[in-house]
Amino acid sequence: MQPSMFNLRVPLAAGDEVFLMNTLTDAQIVVSSDVVALMDRADAGPLGDASGEEREALDVLWENGFLVENRDADRRSLDQYLDEVKSDTSELNITLLTTLQCNFACAYCFQGDHGDYNKRADKMSLDTARQTVEWMSRELDRVQPGKLVLTFFGGEPLLNLPVMYEVAERMWAATREQQVPMFVNIITNGLLLTPEVVDRMVPLGLNGIKITLDGDRDTHNRMRPLRGGQGTFDRIVENVRQVAGRCRISIGGNFDERSVDSYPALLEFLKQQDFADKLAKVFFKPIVRAEPVSPKGVIPLIPVAAKDTLNGTCMTSVGSGAGAGCDSCNVLDDKMTFLRQETRRLGFPTHDGVHNGPCHVHKQHAHTIGPDGSLYPCPGFTGQLALSTGHISDRHDAWRDSAREKFDRLAPWKACGDCAFIPVCAGGCVAASHAQLGDMNVPTCHKRSFESALVALAHAAASAAEEK
Ligand code: SF4
Ligand code: SF4
Repeated sequence: MQPSMFNLRVPLAAGDEVFLMNTLTDAQIVVSSDVVALMDRADAGPLGDASGEEREALDVLWENGFLVENRDADRRSLDQYLDEVKSDTSELNITLLTTLQCNFACAYCFQGDHGDYNKRADKMSLDTARQTVEWMSRELDRVQPGKLVLTFFGGEPLLNLPVMYEVAERMWAATREQQVPMFVNIITNGLLLTPEVVDRMVPLGLNGIKITLDGDRDTHNRMRPLRGGQGTFDRIVENVRQVAGRCRISIGGNFDERSVDSYPALLEFLKQQDFADKLAKVFFKPIVRAEPVSPKGVIPLIPVAAKDTLNGTCMTSVGSGAGAGCDSCNVLDDKMTFLRQETRRLGFPTHDGVHNGPCHVHKQHAHTIGPDGSLYPCPGFTGQLALSTGHISDRHDAWRDSAREKFDRLAPWKACGDCAFIPVCAGGCVAASHAQLGDMNVPTCHKRSFESALVALAHAAASAAEEK
């Protein structure tokens, strides 16, 4: 018997208590330092001299996965867990890019109203939308999932409302017929969001809308203007006010070293709004950059993709935990920790920063569909046809089959040694590994940030335990 390699410990300030978490079982407990010492004794050898009370403690630790038979048992449990994640049928998760066009000219994005991008960018046709519905219906039949989670994304998804309505209506009917619950999300820049859109989507399973605000008013207007430079902040906030209360609204934001300091002001601003208590989540993340990280080094960000590799999906979400397109690789750093604390201090729900993965790329039943009907394992690869894993027509192309096999074999965590965060990280963002390191099996590591998020989680858990 020995302590699991997935145990994490955080000494708590008060008394001699220690927060223990096991990332594989997700067990979290606050124990006295005696219990920790007992675990360490178990590591040193058989505990034949343990008292009755100690035996009871050992039983609890064993039942919760803090003690395991040996390291091989830990490894076997990890493999089993990751296999289960991969084949999980509790949900069929589809991210559908209705268009790659965008009505913004964000400073950090190559998409949108820059040059003639929108003239070249793909937009899904109604015909492809119908074929997409047919493919999803076949998947529902084949996978028999516990639920369907359908996220509309882009580009700016609301620039192609006919496709969004067509797909949502048909899938709503298909899921009713098959008695599968359906949850719809929309990730939008918010400019075209109206009560009419929301009211039309609510009866079709609308679960949540994520809107991006990149800092306080001035900063957002600088970061996310229209092509003519006009600001968009006031209009978006007014749109949020109009729809708040009709469905779950989350606010996301993308920061860099120049804009990050404006986020506390944004949080204060949001707190003062009459819709503040209706925000389901507020979460910020670093910008996916194409250029090298600033020499100031404020944000130790590993870019998820360079311009020529992102090729399509809105950078609002790709590559880090923004909401739905990709909610997993919360690229964490000191500023992330600070913003998370500020967000919490003002009473907004946010991510804990520990439970990040494994992300969609590791799940067989999570797909991103591009406007031409190509399938991708996650939004981070959209537009890179060579990495398309299939097509809604179900036709077989050797290159797509080979891409799918490549993703099937992914195991970046194998290079992570005994890291205790593997069950909640799985080696980081594969799209980042591919774009920046040229190898999907090389981990992109933000361990230090996991560690600081863990400390916050420990103190929150300890406070919650005290309140009980
Ligand atoms: S590989 Fe990266 S971009 Fe893709 S789902 Fe995972 S974390 Fe997100
Ligand atoms: S990428 Fe880093 S934090 Fe994630 S599992 Fe690997 S070593 Fe751990």
